[in-house]
Amino acid sequence: MPRINRSEFIETRRSQRLDLTAAKNDPAFRAKLEAAGFKLEDLDKLDLAEHDGLLEGPRELRALYDLLKGLEGGGPAEVLTVKPRGWTAPATTRVDHAFDAFESGFQPSPRAPAPAAPIDGAARARFPLTGSVGAGGQNRSADVRLVQQRLKEVGFDLAVDGQWGRKTETALKTYGAMLRGGDYTKEEPGLIAPNDLVDRALSSEAPPRWEKMPASGPGFVNHDTDGFSHGSAETRLAVEEFSAAYARDYLAANPGRALISLNDVSERHGGDNRDHDTHENGLDLDLRLPRKDGTSGSDVRRTDYDREAAWAMLSSIAANPRVERVLFSDAALRERAKTEGQPWAFKLFDGGEVHKNHFHVDIKPPK
Ligand SMILES: [Zn+2]
Repeated sequence: MPRINRSEFIETRRSQRLDLTAAKNDPAFRAKLEAAGFKLEDLDKLDLAEHDGLLEGPRELRALYDLLKGLEGGGPAEVLTVKPRGWTAPATTRVDHAFDAFESGFQPSPRAPAPAAPIDGAARARFPLTGSVGAGGQNRSADVRLVQQRLKEVGFDLAVDGQWGRKTETALKTYGAMLRGGDYTKEEPGLIAPNDLVDRALSSEAPPRWEKMPASGPGFVNHDTDGFSHGSAETRLAVEEFSAAYARDYLAANPGRALISLNDVSERHGGDNRDHDTHENGLDLDLRLPRKDGTSGSDVRRTDYDREAAWAMLSSIAANPRVERVLFSDAALRERAKTEGQPWAFKLFDGGEVHKNHFHVDIKPPK
């Protein structure tokens, strides 16, 4: 059986797309998904980037790969084992059924992205890497030093010593996961190869940054006390923007109601952590729920839960264009968003038991 890793999976489908609406209406597609034990409404969770009914582009292909990987069960972590193209034997496993279904739906895309342009001279002069750096890379000392220097400039706390080591690797994997929107740093290659996404970012004039979240600002306060206050600059901007909107649109007329309470983003260098399944790439954030007395830290099942303030928060958060998805288990508010026809209702998902005492917000990766 052929095995493909995530980047091969995305690369071979970069000029294709799958029409989710057409797929949902195709009985053969539905039957295959059913055989895979997959719910039709879960398809919408793949339509992340634009909510346009199309599965297209690296972000959504990555989500599809992760979904197939989840169906596979105990396969090796780095690869997905799939049937070769043109294989006619009937599917037997859940992942085979799902893979068959999706593969039959991909069509050439009329708006396929052009391959990335090679790094030009001016950009290369800013970041004059001469070879690969990272796990299994060439790791010339001058190159490792360059990478450490640049990662330090974008916000990581690294010694610039030319030694490839664990701290540099964590920072590099976190930075890669932030750029690609990958949830798990252990699935990152941890390697910069010439002209790849990380190389292009670090040689650009204004590389995406890794920042400390502010202690407070208009409409919000940061309540993190256990070292989860770092993340993407996109995350910091999103918090500032949706909190300012909440202050303007709700708090101004309702003084004394709770501020938005930022709890956890990521650790100093991101990466795997004991407190969260995700929160590794600086693009996940948790917000505590408002209480009627104007403090925060409630739960949708508690009598002190301030549902109106929560609705106002949710409206500001989900309307923000940097926000990709909100996991929140207050069914009444998700229903209200749908009934009112809010244009951001598609971003809300039931997060199960664990999301009854906070909003979990996913921020889109930097452009
Ligand atoms: Zn979370």
